[in-house]
Amino acid sequence: MTGPEAPGPPAPLQRGAEGVRYDGMGEPPRCAMTVDVEDYFHVEAFARVVRREDWDRYPLRVEESTRRLLDLLDRHAVKATFFVLGWIARKAPRLVAEIRRRGHELGCHSFWHRLVYTLSPEELRSDLREATRTIEDAGQVKLRGHRAPSFSVTEKSLWALEVLAEEGYEYDSSVFPIRHDVYGIPAFPRFPVRLEVGGGARSIVEFPASTVRLLGANLPGPGGGYLRILPLRYSLWALRRIVETEERPAAVYVHPWELDPGQPRLRGPLASRLRHYTGLSRAEGRLERLLSAFPFAPMGEVLLTAHIEAHPPSGRSPAAGTEASAPSRPGTGS
Ligand SMILES: [Zn+2]
Repeated sequence: MTGPEAPGPPAPLQRGAEGVRYDGMGEPPRCAMTVDVEDYFHVEAFARVVRREDWDRYPLRVEESTRRLLDLLDRHAVKATFFVLGWIARKAPRLVAEIRRRGHELGCHSFWHRLVYTLSPEELRSDLREATRTIEDAGQVKLRGHRAPSFSVTEKSLWALEVLAEEGYEYDSSVFPIRHDVYGIPAFPRFPVRLEVGGGARSIVEFPASTVRLLGANLPGPGGGYLRILPLRYSLWALRRIVETEERPAAVYVHPWELDPGQPRLRGPLASRLRHYTGLSRAEGRLERLLSAFPFAPMGEVLLTAHIEAHPPSGRSPAAGTEASAPSRPGTGS
């Protein structure tokens, strides 16, 4: 995937040869189940104590924990989207092939798990190309979707959406519309939107991480640490509110290491350890509860039937602070 095949306006996302557009009305909204395939030593919480050049020295546990997750999804007959770290695809290509063989969608989670807003557009592009090539080789499929490490597409790095569109990605799921110390664009639309990039030459769909609106603020929906640390009834309430009350699609995210309570304990700041280790032993049970309570599907498939708005809506300027319709053009020669 090194760029668009033909110039001209971007085609709508299509399913195979049938060309089913994803703005079909009338179908009930569904939840996207997404998995960020990385291991316990890749996470941002420990990025200061684990150097990338040392990754090879940590015992790899992601194959076993991902298979556990695959078995869990099988038990519920749910297919998901697996955003794979390129480094994992290089290290464990058979795992990537197995995810695909078992009927799931493959996506990209970068190669080196670096925060997008710490990279230049050129650095992002080269990381993305290496990851895309490695994952596509291992999975023998063209990737359509991307999730940045730690939801690091923020106001500072909205330009990344243009790079992603140029590299052939059809959708991204890297914006978290909340306030947080590492990520977040609180004013960003809460549901899938189509954004024009490069002055309208291309477009890409952003499927933001799910939030619930309460007392004028966005609260995080279920996923990652929020699913493990907050009460289960909160996660169930949040999903019900999005899917049943608001009748919009939701997205849930998990990591294989969250189903691996036996992982080696890393030293690090107390806050990082709390964020990473709290609730590991209950994550699997909680995921089971969500899987049996809601209709889940891969993100690419949820988008095929979701109603997608343009952002900004025609004739209106973008929401204050997002400027999402026209990310500044990165200085990227081609
Ligand atoms: Zn990650």
